[in-house]
Amino acid sequence: MRFTRLRLNGFKSFVDPTDLIIHEGLTGVVGPNGCGKSNLLEALRWVMGENRPTAMRGGGMEDVIFAGTATRSARNFAEVALVIDNEERLAPAGFNEADTVEIVRRITRDAGSAYKANTKEVRARDIQMLFADASTGAHSPALVRQGQIAELINAKPKSRRRILEEAAGISGLYQRRHEAELR
Ligand code: ATP
Ligand code: MG
Repeated sequence: MRFTRLRLNGFKSFVDPTDLIIHEGLTGVVGPNGCGKSNLLEALRWVMGENRPTAMRGGGMEDVIFAGTATRSARNFAEVALVIDNEERLAPAGFNEADTVEIVRRITRDAGSAYKANTKEVRARDIQMLFADASTGAHSPALVRQGQIAELINAKPKSRRRILEEAAGISGLYQRRHEAELR
């Protein structure tokens, strides 16, 4: 699953529409403190279904919406789009009709957030499963937050196991089993 594009609009400090092309190979993001590097990673995690405000360094989910500055007023919505290359048709059923899969998540003040996959409305759970099966996603250890290395070193065996399950690509199955047990 290769990400080829990330578009942001009104997400945290990215008030103006921003379109990032992600080329093959290693991508580096550099810039001065506070320029939005961590916000970019949070946008990626958010569009993949992150629902914990704390993981987004906020108190509530609406905190991802541009909050305004001295010179610019706050926005009423935030939108992030992630384009995935699907030429090899590796996406799971339901996402697999086209050469690219575009996932869009949008949050509107007082109206919550909604997801689309190639313009069709989908549930948060569908998006989370799509990425869980691909061993990536909002909780993937492939996305390492600032300060997380130290947390990893001090991790308890249970959280280490979760990391190994992600790496083995079985966390999607695990989630489904858990849901089946709840039914
Ligand atoms: P560092 O190098 O220090 O890690 P960084 O490049 O990772 O910095 P970020 O943490 O991504 O920087 O960006 C922080 C900036 O984003 C701050 O200026 C903060 O005010 C701004 N910001 C965060 N949330 C919002 C929001 N909802 N609306 C407007 N600006 C926001
Ligand atoms: Mg940072």
